[in-house]
Amino acid sequence: MKQSVTAGVDIGGTNTVVGLINDSGTCVLKSNSPTLGQGSAEQFVLRLAEAIRQLLRELPGESTLGGIGIAAPAANYRKGIIQNSANLQWKTIEIVGMMKQHFDLPIAVMNDANAAALGEMRNGCTKGMKNSIVITLGTGLGAGIVTDGHLLYGENGVAGELGHVIVDPNGRICGCGRRGCAETYVSATGIRRTVFELLAYNATESKLRDISFNQLTSEKTYELAIQGDPIARDAFLITGRHLGLLLSNIAAVFDPEAIVLSGGLMNAGDLLLDPTKESFDQNRLDLKWRKVLILKSHLADGEAAILGASWLVTETAAKEHDVPAQMEGSLR
Ligand SMILES: [Zn+2]
Repeated sequence: MKQSVTAGVDIGGTNTVVGLINDSGTCVLKSNSPTLGQGSAEQFVLRLAEAIRQLLRELPGESTLGGIGIAAPAANYRKGIIQNSANLQWKTIEIVGMMKQHFDLPIAVMNDANAAALGEMRNGCTKGMKNSIVITLGTGLGAGIVTDGHLLYGENGVAGELGHVIVDPNGRICGCGRRGCAETYVSATGIRRTVFELLAYNATESKLRDISFNQLTSEKTYELAIQGDPIARDAFLITGRHLGLLLSNIAAVFDPEAIVLSGGLMNAGDLLLDPTKESFDQNRLDLKWRKVLILKSHLADGEAAILGASWLVTETAAKEHDVPAQMEGSLR
């Protein structure tokens, strides 16, 4: 029997994940390759088209590809473009138009954090929930907010920029030009800045002193924290405190059933989750009857975004390119 699949793509600053998703929302085959965002967009699209074809060849039995859903930073669904992403050097590219030169199929692009929120709703932690927030902790801090079953879109399609909520008006300079945004503390880049601040203010022995700023990764910090390095442990503690405070504020605004934490930084697991929950409990608006779940995504890294992006394209194709009402809010 012919199997029908949809391709989901998550374009990250470092790696691009491509997956084939079956009708029941399961990712049946996946590949991961370097994005090479500093190279040309044309070369990237060629590699991406080949990666999708390669997965189709590897899929056992006969299959048909129904569409391609792409998740990317700074993506605009309505225009089918990726706009001046900070982590990709392509300026603005018409990704949907470029991919259509390779595949005559329904193709859509959407913001990666919104795609992750849809993916968690489809087959992850927030399945069946009507109010939830998904936070992606990578190079920056992204978020997808679902209220009353709809992804929050906003007047200009840029709602949900929780990474740029100011948590300290006198704090660190952010890429957006302001001071003290949450992502200057709570992200892979933010924890690196925290480590170097701790090293400057303390005389404590630490293996982190042997690593330069540009060489330090959140993975290395995690590794050293597990080995008991006091600076590395404090760095996660401070990151969790900022994150918990941010979550307590957004829970007061959106009243979610659950907040899901995902992305590379969450590989630290309880080391980050515990201080986050503690800070959340200390700072939350005290409604004793209300319980907000703070969960770690159980989907593999990048999988939520490919599930969400491919869902969007399946649903829109099924309705002859009409945007389904339930997803209206997700489109950027
Ligand atoms: Zn900012």
